[in-house]
Amino acid sequence: MSVGRGVDILIVGAGLAGIATAYYLSRKHRRRSILLVDARPPMSFTSAQSGDNYRNWWPHPTMTAFTNHSIELMQAIASETSNVIEMTRRGYLLATRLEVVDNLVESLHTGYGDSPADAIRLHQGASSASSYIPPDSDGWVTAPSGVDVLCGRRLISRWFPALSEQVVNLVHVRRAGDISGYQLGRFMLEVFRDAGGSRLMASVRAVEANGGYRVDVEGNSGAEVIEADVLVNAAGPFTAEIAAMLGIALPVENIYQQKILFEDVLDAVPRDLPFSIDLDPVRLGWTEEERTLLSEDPDTVWLIGQLSGGAHCRPDGGSTSRWVKLGWAFNRNVSTPLQEPANDPGVLTEFPEIVMRAVSNLVPALRPYAGRMPSRFSHYGGYYTSTPENWPLIGPLGVDGAFIVGALSGFGTMSACAAGALCADWIAGAELPGYARQLSPARYDYEAFVAELAAAPSKGVL
Ligand SMILES: Cc1cc2nc3c(=O)[nH]c(=O)nc-3n(C[C@H](O)[C@H](O)[C@H](O)COP(=O)(O)OP(=O)(O)OC[C@H]3O[C@@H](n4cnc5c(N)ncnc54)[C@H](O)[C@@H]3O)c2cc1C
Repeated sequence: MSVGRGVDILIVGAGLAGIATAYYLSRKHRRRSILLVDARPPMSFTSAQSGDNYRNWWPHPTMTAFTNHSIELMQAIASETSNVIEMTRRGYLLATRLEVVDNLVESLHTGYGDSPADAIRLHQGASSASSYIPPDSDGWVTAPSGVDVLCGRRLISRWFPALSEQVVNLVHVRRAGDISGYQLGRFMLEVFRDAGGSRLMASVRAVEANGGYRVDVEGNSGAEVIEADVLVNAAGPFTAEIAAMLGIALPVENIYQQKILFEDVLDAVPRDLPFSIDLDPVRLGWTEEERTLLSEDPDTVWLIGQLSGGAHCRPDGGSTSRWVKLGWAFNRNVSTPLQEPANDPGVLTEFPEIVMRAVSNLVPALRPYAGRMPSRFSHYGGYYTSTPENWPLIGPLGVDGAFIVGALSGFGTMSACAAGALCADWIAGAELPGYARQLSPARYDYEAFVAELAAAPSKGVL
């Protein structure tokens, strides 16, 4: 074993979180001695499975402020790079068949607080038709902020005719869209490398505190010990494992969630449809024969009952592509994360069929695919690593010189910039944004506050 390489800052994990932390440390804080260590190529684990969607829609203003800041940082990168990160901003559509949406509108007010930039506009009846600005495919620069609530069939079918006729209220979150997470990570890595940052492809096997940190790593060229003043835990689903090496127990769990990407040969999903979510509980449309088969197996009987809302879809790859992404984060079974997530017990072989049927309740033109999946599709997934309240963990880990940027659940692509910038600010001892302490592990000192968050009916999981 070779001993003795020394760095100021060692970051475990080259997913988007670790890369963004390295980027802001080197770019904003001019730190030069940084080593990014990962057993895999950069962004090839959870970060490669992301749906790449972003939004500032949350049940709590702290998460709204955090993601608003991340969107600002992504916009700055998009401006600087002629939009190499392929940022769009068609928004999120939240669809419901409920006639009365007072609770939904109230939850929007709670999540957005009273910021004028996040104004909530109700559109009702003929006179307000002209005040609604439809999404502009030209991108994020001119898109409005805030939220539009379209009430009634007439308005909804005028602007979004692909949605089910049963949808009578539609919330359009405007500060939302998609980016290329891969391009974002690639850009940040290049800046990091050009500023003198280093990478090492190796597994972290053990960590010992000795005033700084003595980190045992093992890669293709053998085992090595690296001394570091500062250690950053950005290990994604393995974040609890790295924390345990420091004797720290983290309140995080991993749940396998899935998506499909398919070639929409029937052109069922309009290419300009925003990311669309069905908020309502759903019953999947099985035939009698299918229902009988499903009901005979204890593992599948749940599929014939009422399922929670949240199935979603969006066109992928721009106006000339025919690919569509569908997702539905309904799994609640906690996993021990595997190095090969495709072998996780949470992988549901029926998922493509299930999500297709669920989303066709919202976009009826998808119905012909039920039982006849298009020939070109992929089914993939990864871990949502989350705290019980679904807030991230960013900041000091509780022992000198150790930091965390993790528990990014289903929001790690959209929040990577703010998460990395915040972790870098903590390390550099810089001025912190108002939400910093609430998103750090120190929030667990306020037990009643965290218990209230964890008990909230919606935690913003999508
Ligand atoms: C199906 C799915 C859809 C999603 N959709 C979205 C979305 O639309 N929008 C959004 O914002 N987010 C989305 N997410 C969430 C987002 O992908 C994650 O939050 C984000 O990628 C987490 O990044 P990370 O860097 O924390 O983890 P990872 O990308 O998993 O990176 C962690 C890295 O640490 C390395 N590592 C771990 N242990 C060690 C060790 N001991 N030694 C060396 N290296 C180690 C791993 O190899 C890995 O590369 C989705 C996630 C999934 C699973």
